[in-house]
Amino acid sequence: MTVSEQRLQAAVERLKESGVRITPQRHAVLEFLLNSKIHPTADDIYRALEDKFPNMSVATVYNNLRVFRENGLVRELTYGDSSSRFDCETEEHYHLICDQCGKIVDFHYPSLYEVEKLAAQVTNFDVTHHRLELYGTCPDCQQTTKH
Ligand SMILES: [Zn+2]
Ligand SMILES: [Zn+2]
Repeated sequence: MTVSEQRLQAAVERLKESGVRITPQRHAVLEFLLNSKIHPTADDIYRALEDKFPNMSVATVYNNLRVFRENGLVRELTYGDSSSRFDCETEEHYHLICDQCGKIVDFHYPSLYEVEKLAAQVTNFDVTHHRLELYGTCPDCQQTTKH
């Protein structure tokens, strides 16, 4: 079994334990998410799977994403204006975002807990989490602008 198959199986087990029914569509959405490196939107997922599941709607995709989120399998990244992106990397990590194409790449770095502690001390906030994003131009877009 490959690593991604193991992750898929572990995720399916987790859902089953919470009493979530695994439909073929739900399985397909989960599989797509776990294999995706692009932090897809619900629309991306819908378009990738619509040939395979002609009866599936975007609402179905959203419904599945909500179930996955409630079970800690996926994180929703909101960006105010545009639609949310979904991230199945549940370990603490940061993001690099390309200004040209909007691609989001994962970046692992020891979590900045000191920032949370300091911010809590200074402001008396009960700090629950933080989010760090770095912006720039991805290698692909650097190539195309050079030509
Ligand atoms: Zn780019
Ligand atoms: Zn990520």
